[in-house]
Amino acid sequence: MNNIEFDKRHIWHPYTSATNPLPCYEVKSASGVTLQLDGGHAVVDGMASWWSAIHGYNHAALNDAAKAQIDQFSHVMFGGLTHEPAINLCKTLLEMVPAGLERVFLADSGSVSVEVAMKMALQYWACQGRTDKHRIVSPRNGYHGDTFAAMSVCDPVNGMHSLFTNVLTKQLFAPAPQTRFGQTFSEDDILPLEELFAHHHHEIAALILEPVVQGAGGMRIYHPEYLKRARQLCDKYDALLICDEIATGFGRTGKLFACEWADISPDILCVGKALTGGYMTLAATLCSEDVAQGICQGQPGVFMHGPTYMGNPLACAVAGASLALINEGHWQSQVQQIEQQLKTSLPACAQLASVEDVRILGAIGVVEMKQTVNVANAQKSFINNGAWIRPFGKLIYIMPPYIIKPEELQILTDAIYTYASSLEV
Ligand SMILES: *Cc1c(COP(=O)(O)O)cnc(C)c1O
Repeated sequence: MNNIEFDKRHIWHPYTSATNPLPCYEVKSASGVTLQLDGGHAVVDGMASWWSAIHGYNHAALNDAAKAQIDQFSHVMFGGLTHEPAINLCKTLLEMVPAGLERVFLADSGSVSVEVAMKMALQYWACQGRTDKHRIVSPRNGYHGDTFAAMSVCDPVNGMHSLFTNVLTKQLFAPAPQTRFGQTFSEDDILPLEELFAHHHHEIAALILEPVVQGAGGMRIYHPEYLKRARQLCDKYDALLICDEIATGFGRTGKLFACEWADISPDILCVGKALTGGYMTLAATLCSEDVAQGICQGQPGVFMHGPTYMGNPLACAVAGASLALINEGHWQSQVQQIEQQLKTSLPACAQLASVEDVRILGAIGVVEMKQTVNVANAQKSFINNGAWIRPFGKLIYIMPPYIIKPEELQILTDAIYTYASSLEV
């Protein structure tokens, strides 16, 4: 059995059938924005390994951070012990995030950080004697991860709630924000959320949303005014605001955090994905002093969560190095340049009969097709044109590493145009 046959026979891949899997390509090495595939194809990575590898692959500074830490120690338990990689990371993180966030909970993945955020919100109200405030509101088309609590606030259709009707907690859903980024905000857009709060505030613990860009639930880019109003509604109706910036955090939308588009701060913030520059899994849930005090002053007085690998020093060291790179500030002009180029090249796709819509913000380019994309065919075409792009549903999208050069980005946008125009007939 060769590698690919063994993989196909025995290994699960994300969102893929075990019995009839999509083709899988073996990566031999990666550096800069390029993945070297077995068999000789070199492809420009349009996905940044699911929004993570913002500085590109095989980055000297991140490699050095990992190597230096591995020679000190790779891991120690975080219960009763602490270490410099975690302390330095949390210091830097607190300086970067929106104002008012004071406490950091280090989690092992984005989904876990969402679980932690939801648990914080529920425990916060329980400790004020408000056990009636136990439900979480989220806009439709949201995506917050694959674990059970996270799933309960994902879009009920995309998240396939019908499969798990009897196990998923029944949360409250508002319609997805409708006003697009850059359009004139329509008051009608916020009314359904306002009505939901008016009727249900006595049982609402928190609102969770992805600020400005809804990612895996539809790649929708909406008006920051919606976010501003959502903050006001949370204040008015005594609910916590949880912002899930796992996809949008660290510059992707053109702001360091997407919250900045609306000039708001959440009570609880989730970050992940690009936190380690795509090197290893690490996420964090940050909260305000008020939330931390509210949780810990009541009974039982502690926050009952503690993953085995909490605060993993290797991950913290690499994340610290990644944040240091961001703080050098080049991301801003890099993301701006990507946005400019996407705005010149991608709209041509909108003229094609197979294309429904084109959307762009920061280093995110989305081409929504009229029909569901045949992933195997599309991927074959992309690879033949030197691009690594993984579509889902009707969406072909790219969010490349920030270090991508204009000619490399053009390989990606040309590959999309070529594929979309091949569907014309
Ligand atoms: C990816 C993602 C998650 C889940 O993160 P994992 O690390 O995959 O568990 C949660 N929320 C958003 C917005 C995401 O994009």
